[in-house]
Amino acid sequence: MIAHIFLRKNNSIANTKKLSQKIKCHSERSEESLFLKGQTLRFAQGDSFKIISNRLYTLFILLLLGCFCQAAPQKITISNTAISVVFDANDSALSVIDKRTGQVWRQKVVTKGQVIASEKLDDGLKMTWREPGLGLDVQTEIRLDGEKPEFTVELSADPPSAALKWSLGFPHPFVSDVGTYLVIPMNEGISYPVEDQTIEPMWLIAYGGHGICMSFWGATDGELGYMAIIETPDDALIRIERIDGKLCVRPAWEPQKGRFGYKRKLRYVFFEKGGHAAICKRYRSYAREKGLLKTLQQKRKENPDVDLLIGAVNVWCWEKDSLAIVREMKSLGIERILWSNRAGPEVIAAMNEMGGILTSRYDIYQDLMDPNIVREKLNRPHPDWTQEGWPEDIMTDEKGDWRKGWRVKGKDGQMYPCGVLCDKQALKYAHQRVPEELKTHPYRCRFIDTTTASPWRECYNPEHPMTRSESRHWKMELLRFICEESKLVTGSETGHDAAVPYVHYFEGMLSLGPYRVSDSGRNMIQIWDEVPQQVAKFQAGQAYRLPLWELVYHDCVVAQWYWGDYNNKLPSLWDKRDLFNILYGTPPMFMFNKEFWEKNKTRFVQSYKNTCSVVRAVGYVEMTDHRFLTPDRDVQQTTFANGITVTVNFGEKPYRLADGKEIGPMSYSVSEM
Ligand SMILES: [Zn+2]
Repeated sequence: MIAHIFLRKNNSIANTKKLSQKIKCHSERSEESLFLKGQTLRFAQGDSFKIISNRLYTLFILLLLGCFCQAAPQKITISNTAISVVFDANDSALSVIDKRTGQVWRQKVVTKGQVIASEKLDDGLKMTWREPGLGLDVQTEIRLDGEKPEFTVELSADPPSAALKWSLGFPHPFVSDVGTYLVIPMNEGISYPVEDQTIEPMWLIAYGGHGICMSFWGATDGELGYMAIIETPDDALIRIERIDGKLCVRPAWEPQKGRFGYKRKLRYVFFEKGGHAAICKRYRSYAREKGLLKTLQQKRKENPDVDLLIGAVNVWCWEKDSLAIVREMKSLGIERILWSNRAGPEVIAAMNEMGGILTSRYDIYQDLMDPNIVREKLNRPHPDWTQEGWPEDIMTDEKGDWRKGWRVKGKDGQMYPCGVLCDKQALKYAHQRVPEELKTHPYRCRFIDTTTASPWRECYNPEHPMTRSESRHWKMELLRFICEESKLVTGSETGHDAAVPYVHYFEGMLSLGPYRVSDSGRNMIQIWDEVPQQVAKFQAGQAYRLPLWELVYHDCVVAQWYWGDYNNKLPSLWDKRDLFNILYGTPPMFMFNKEFWEKNKTRFVQSYKNTCSVVRAVGYVEMTDHRFLTPDRDVQQTTFANGITVTVNFGEKPYRLADGKEIGPMSYSVSEM
């Protein structure tokens, strides 16, 4: 191909500058051919064209061209057989053409800044990006990954110790059209239609259970789509923005103790089909590469008690005669129970003897209270607080103040905050506490509250400083100690995939954090007859929810509801929660006192039998697919690796399956079981 360059007759310097931009645009499209074959140039004479083969002109133009191209090419294109990535130096935005479908994905500029330099590399490009006031230049490298429909973006600062004044919001978000939905691993997972005006913009951290629990986000129309995997999630978060009326997602990178620190990395992946299930499967293969994908089968080989968890209902009950309640539950057919409340040695032993009971207790390595407050304001400290750690083991912030944790009500009605135990110091308390107790109390399981719910935090205490990455490391060491060294089935709160190798269940993964009843962590046993709007619309909303966690980790960690958001919490949603458990192949959670149990025994048995039989059948296998069978999403279907298919009808009309079988409103069908 021959490049054509057009010059007007009376060009001024200004015109030459404009022209050079035009040349650069051309050069971007056909750079190679221009330099190899560009011997013939065309110049305009008024409206007529005349070929001039004057060597001087040619030389002049080539020099001009070369000069401007090296200084700052306006566009750089890199491509493989699957995608073309076009970088526009004018506004620092990327656009991606998926060659398989013709789909074009475009970024929209949201963070003001400018490109200082840019250059094409063999397998990618690099550029320097400057955000006014940020205090450093961001070196950016974009590289294609072989012939895959994928590229990575790596951000660094020179030197890495350079101060980062605020979180860096780069690269820009890809925006997608009406009809697509965001795929967000907020706890179990949610979809946000990009045109949905009821969704408020929000920040979600990637370094704790109350944000995104797996380090990716995506967007899809149900078939084609894109995702971004945050390969360095420890100081990362995402921002869900609304631009031109449509939702989109961009990453943000927090300073590491005030500095840019390590290289930050994203991987963009483009899909020609498969929707959110394909997005999850790509993440699953990434998780496997990263060593996160440890299955329940593997965990069961290390600890046979894991099998007691599969298909067990998690029961929270604080009544004194727990043994009698468990016996009655068993007599009614509730065979497999995770009994979460602590008990005395004889009761634990008796439950263990019964068979089918996973005996557990609550524990926590986060909160501790100022002894003066305990003495003067409280009736008593919580038995599981690590009080001996005050003040040496408390985490401090950059100003040297102790970090505030859970707040408790004093005798005077005031709320008093706990301090937060430094994660680096927590393990020694578990070492002191757990093996000693197991000598007398034959528990098979332990629930470690907050460890995977609360964020990885920086500690500035000079005796035990930590970055967020170190905080994560020490949290995982705590869980590893419970799981591997103490040989206990291990649960933690809400959940984050950094802990997949070290836990067996997450209490709260099924419950989308922002859409629980208000203050759901307090007065958990209270039954709500009124359903708050956010609970009905999102928590129990089949139009929004997605089983993203199950598609990635169903066979690795059991997902459960939060203890302030269990199956019988809002009785009018009980049926619906059971249906979600059946569809997702996840066990239910019951919380009751004696009175509620007596009144609702039959309903509890129904819940258990419907849900746990499915969980027992699919508990160890991968969820291979999830799809909507109707456009309103009322009918949904999941498929598991052992061939079992679950179809749930959340709607008000009957639905007929391909084989002619009818599923009634608020009903379900399980094939091949
Ligand atoms: Zn510390």
